[in-house]
Amino acid sequence: MPREKVIIIGSGPAGLTAALYTSRAILKPLVISGNQLGGQVSITSEVENYPGFPEGTTGPELVDFMQKQAEKFGARVLIDEVTQVDLRNGSPFTVKTHGDEFETEALIICTGASPRRLGIPGEEELIGRGVSFCATCDGFFFREKEVVVVGGGDSAMEEANFLTRFAKHVRVIHRRDELRAGETLKQRAFANQKISFVWDSVVTEVLGDGQVQAVRVRNVKTDEDQEIASDGVFVAIGHIPNSALFKDQLEMDDREYLKTDARMMTSVPGVFAAGEIQDPTFRQIATSVGQGSAAAMMAERWLEEQE
Ligand code: NAP
Repeated sequence: MPREKVIIIGSGPAGLTAALYTSRAILKPLVISGNQLGGQVSITSEVENYPGFPEGTTGPELVDFMQKQAEKFGARVLIDEVTQVDLRNGSPFTVKTHGDEFETEALIICTGASPRRLGIPGEEELIGRGVSFCATCDGFFFREKEVVVVGGGDSAMEEANFLTRFAKHVRVIHRRDELRAGETLKQRAFANQKISFVWDSVVTEVLGDGQVQAVRVRNVKTDEDQEIASDGVFVAIGHIPNSALFKDQLEMDDREYLKTDARMMTSVPGVFAAGEIQDPTFRQIATSVGQGSAAAMMAERWLEEQE
């Protein structure tokens, strides 16, 4: 079984930055990409808040730059998905993918988070038939159509604003009468003529025969039900950490985010975590990059201490 010094699981900003730092420490890290090279950023159209790009950049471009920079110093990126890890006996750890099995002395987990689902009838069945979790990916299919966005946070506002490029009209359905989103995105959404709001309301069902046709919505204050005709439903109600692989092996909080200490180390010595897998709060490219570099430096130091 090939033995690595450092394996990094996940190839978003945290993973690719951990790769840059560990490669510059001549540890020849192996990055296992996961099912989406670049993670969530790779499907983000505009990145306006990552420093160093005064004109903004795109998610795919940023990922491409980060990958090239890490590879320049010796990082290797394997396009595969980790299916199993064994951390129980300490370092070296075992990491299995669909196609390979490795041993690694240190492990940096950067598996990120995935969109949370509403868990209502019709949602699952109509994914790809009008139900989407990514406006950047699917917005194009809704030219001159009616769409709804569910949620009141930054993601929902970003999705709603983006969708107005294509859709005829975007209705934001939010369960309260106040948005959670920050001021900039909120004001941008309020100023956008193509966006309207349905307050104090939850979507209880996605309706459609093979294709989304409407959503059933309940007003939580009046208990009144109504059907809103719509061609698309974009769900933007937050994320859940991709931590299932580590269940019963690493300590997690009550929302199943990995717990890390000040050195970015998990409950198992030699296993580090960075980015959204251990950060429910900030979730920014800039913070993930910071956490990725910190985890890499701590992994390097930990490996040195073992020698
Ligand atoms: P979020 O801030 O957790 O917001 C989730 C939204 O969905 C909230 O409005 C919440 O309602 C609503 N919600 C949650 N569960 C729901 C359910 N079951 N049914 C209906 N509505 C539900 O998530 P996010 O918008 O993905 O943002 C996460 C983090 O990423 C935040 O820190 C955010 O600032 C950051 N972010 C930043 C940017 C940016 O800076 N450009 C872009 C995207 C995300 P309540 O408000 O009632 O809780």
